[in-house]
Order: sequence, then C-alpha cells, then structure tokens
Amino acid sequence: MANKLRIIPLGGLGEIGKNMMLFEYGNNSLLVDAGLMFPENDMLGIDYIIPDFRYLLDKKDTVRGIIITHGHEDHTGAIKHVMAELDAPIYATPLTRGLLEVKLRDAKLHDKVTLNTINAGDRVHIGPFDVEFFHVCHSIPDGVGLGINTPAGLIVHSGDFKFDHTPVDGWPTDYAKLAEFSGRGVLALLSDSTNADKAGWTPSEAVIDPAFDQVFRDASGRILIATFASLISRIQQVANAAFRHGRKMALVGTSMVENAKMAQKLGYLEVPEGLIVSTDEALRMQPKKVAIMTTGTQGEPSSILGRLSEGRNRQFDLLPNDTVVLSSHPIPGNEEMVHRTINKLLQRGARVIYDPIAPVHVSGHASAEEMKLLMHLVKPKHFVPIHGELRHLNQHAAIAREVGIPNENIVVVENGAVLEFSDGKMSVGERIPGGYVFVDGTGVGDIGPGVMREREALAENGFVIVNMRVSKSGQLVGKPDIISRGFVFVRDADELFEAAQSEIAAAAAKANGNLKDKIQNTLSDFFYSETKRRPMVFALVNEL
Ligand SMILES: [Zn+2]
Ligand SMILES: [Zn+2]
Repeated sequence: MANKLRIIPLGGLGEIGKNMMLFEYGNNSLLVDAGLMFPENDMLGIDYIIPDFRYLLDKKDTVRGIIITHGHEDHTGAIKHVMAELDAPIYATPLTRGLLEVKLRDAKLHDKVTLNTINAGDRVHIGPFDVEFFHVCHSIPDGVGLGINTPAGLIVHSGDFKFDHTPVDGWPTDYAKLAEFSGRGVLALLSDSTNADKAGWTPSEAVIDPAFDQVFRDASGRILIATFASLISRIQQVANAAFRHGRKMALVGTSMVENAKMAQKLGYLEVPEGLIVSTDEALRMQPKKVAIMTTGTQGEPSSILGRLSEGRNRQFDLLPNDTVVLSSHPIPGNEEMVHRTINKLLQRGARVIYDPIAPVHVSGHASAEEMKLLMHLVKPKHFVPIHGELRHLNQHAAIAREVGIPNENIVVVENGAVLEFSDGKMSVGERIPGGYVFVDGTGVGDIGPGVMREREALAENGFVIVNMRVSKSGQLVGKPDIISRGFVFVRDADELFEAAQSEIAAAAAKANGNLKDKIQNTLSDFFYSETKRRPMVFALVNEL
C-alpha cells in the first residue's frame, strides 16, 4: 500500500484554544503548534488544559520537527509539556522563538531543546515535509502560515490570520505567496475559523489609534489598559498613544513585563527611551501623567484587574478618576466573568471603556469576507476548517460551499479525527484520543472526569460528615456527630439532622458489615428526598 498523508487535529478543533495539528507521512511526522486552553467556569480548580497527545508517545521517534506559528498562548502554552516528552527541533520566527525561550527557561528545559529560527519566506525540509513559511497578519507580530509540500500534495495551513492592510507593524499578509500556491495546485486548505460567524471584514488594527487618542484626551486621571500579555501589537499602540499624549507607561504583571522585554530586545516593540517606567515610579507620579498596562481581561479573579475590581490588589488600588480600558474581547465562555468584573470596576468608581463602547480592541482573526478571499487566493481542492468551536467550524464550511468548494470536498471534524489523503482524495479514517488533559497545580493529567464530577458536586451541594462510634460487634454506640458545610444553613436544619439520626439508626441496625456504604447511600437519598439536593456524604466509622 502506498503511503498516505494523515492530518490529525490533536487540539483546537471543536474548541477555542489548545491548538495542535499533526501531519504524518509513513514513519515521519510534523507537529504544528502546542497550545493551552484556559478552563471554563465549571472546571473548578483547573489552571489550564493542554491537548491530549498520548497518540504520539509510543511513536516519539517519528517526530521530525515542531513548528510554532506564532507566540500566543493557545499555540505555545503547552510547549513545556510537549518538550518534556518529545525530542525534536522547534522551528519558529524570531519573536515566537523569543517567547518560547522564556517558557522553556522557566521550565528548565532550555538546554535540552533545539530551537531553529525561521523567517517568513523561508523554505525548510523537515523529514519528507518541505515547508514554506509565509507571513500573516494577526494581533501579534511575526505570525506565519504554512505551505507544506508533502509527497501527497501541497497543504496550506493558515495559522491565525486576518487581512489587515494597515497593521501596526506595517507588514501585511503575503497575498502573492498565497496566489502562487494556487498556481501550483493546493490539495487542501486548513483555515482559522475563530470569527466565521462574523460577517464582513475584521477592522484594521489602525482603528484603535484614534480610539486610544480619544481615551487619552478625555482622561483626567490615570489610564489603566488591560490586554493579553502576548498582544505585543497592542503594547506598541499604547506606547505610541502614551508618547503622543505626554504620559509615561508602566507594565504590571510578570508575563507582560517578560514578553515586552523580549519583544523590545528583538526589535518587535519600539519604545522611545525613558517612556517605560517602573510601577513604583508610575505610582508616585501625577495620575494624569501615567498609563498602566496590565493583564486580566478575562475576569480572572487572581489577575491584577480582577483584584483591583475587588479592592484587594496589594501594590495599588483604584483612584477616583481612573479610566480602565479593556483592550480585548471575552474568550467564548468568559463573557459572564468579564461583565461581572466591569460592573465591579464601575461600582468602585472607575470609568470603564471597552468595545463596543469605543473601538479599543479589534479581533486578530479574519471575518467571513476575508475567509472567502483566502479561499479564492489559494483555490484549494479540499477544505478543512480549523481553530474554533463546532459552530465556527460549521459556519466556515458553509462559507466554503458559498464560494463554490464542493460539499464532498469539505469536512468538519473535531479533535482526534484522522484525515487521510491519497491519490488526491480526502477521507476520514480512524479516531484517536483527542480530549482534555487538565493541569492543576503541579499535576498534569492526574485530574480526570471523576475528580471533576466530585468538585462539581461539592461546589453545588456541599458535604455532610457522619462521625460514628461502633462497638466490636458492629452496634452503633450513642448518636453520631453530623457536620455539614455548604449544604444547608445549619441553625435551621435541626429537624432535618434529627430525622437523619433516625435514618442512620435504622440503616445501622440493618447493615451487614457494609456500614459505611449503607449509611452514605441511605443519607444521600434521604437528603435528596428532603431537600432536592444531594450533598456528598462521608461516613466515618470509629471502632471502639
Ligand atoms: Zn493567535
Ligand atoms: Zn489562536
């Protein structure tokens, strides 16, 4: 049997985040991106989530290289977990490489990993894959898409992209390269679906400058601007606005400081001498002379913005006349937390500005018309929507049909599906694991669905502990102590717990060596029938 090209999404299809795509040909494979995803509201206690790449673990020696398309967390955030397992060189543009170095150094993997710098326009052989890197606009400089020449045909991977004619760094997407690919014949296009449900064209980053100017003109006190730590273009725009309006700028938060330092060192962030001051200095200056950039745009309670909204930030507090700018959009699923944070900031007296009140943020992802243009430029035979929840992938598929790609040449798949290409045809093959790996403190992957269900149950209904004393012959001695937390208001629950004592006594009399389980099950059902809540019940049996 002739070798097939296999394309396997390990992350990012069916969700926003933790992007990871595997290309396989014979005994060779190429990994594209290694991202993380931030937990949803109901994932209690989880720090972040990484792709399930167990599939690669028993074929580690087939991995010829790892390409990281750009420096955002949803493409880089799992790198330390991947590099702890795999021994393959990384390929990235200078800024992306710099941001990866910061992560690898933190994880003490720096010495172990080979990092190769590539630039847009380069062509690199990685095993049987001949990869052409082309520049794409996005909300971070130095992003690339990929033309991957494989023995089965040319595959174009868009990376995260938008078509911005006036980007902050003055470097538009490489349209000519895209058109050149179509001249050579493209077997399949894999394209970013994040904004597939947005009609029209994503506004240029240039619209933010006048919006910032307005904010800077109107603000009589300090300006606090929150954005993602990896949004280097936005840091540049704030620096420019601060300079134009005679303010100094301070960066707060380790990740933002580190990223800005690296971007500045590599020439991707150009800041006039003396513009950036330390936080301490900024706090001593006249409020109308400073702009402070910080993280926490998703309403994370532990972030600086989250702490400011609750008045428990250690280094500084909100002042009257502070203007807070949210230069970001909520990641799907975070809307509620973001809106709560905005309300709390308003309660504490800040002026809060966010899109759509003013265009202080634009998306870094293509909208429907840009997606269509990409398809027309590349003219792919097959189309696979990537990077998005199922609703985004489906809508992107509909857009592809609209521009004339035949339905049978389009597939919508989620993580773990194996796409096979041979003789110019695409088919969906076997399924491999493609779920979540939870990272929780120092634990990776040890938190499974069972623990998550327990956390949910505890959060929703609390727990009850029954402390029993039992004689050698198995008889209940005296009344057990009943302790509850997060279940009912204890002072009103005398009757309920008295009734529970009778249930315990009755169950204990009938129990036959399995006292613990018997009491737990009986009480769980009893509390549910009385309160319509099912707390976790722990029976402790102390033999006298
Ligand atoms: Zn991105
Ligand atoms: Zn992304």
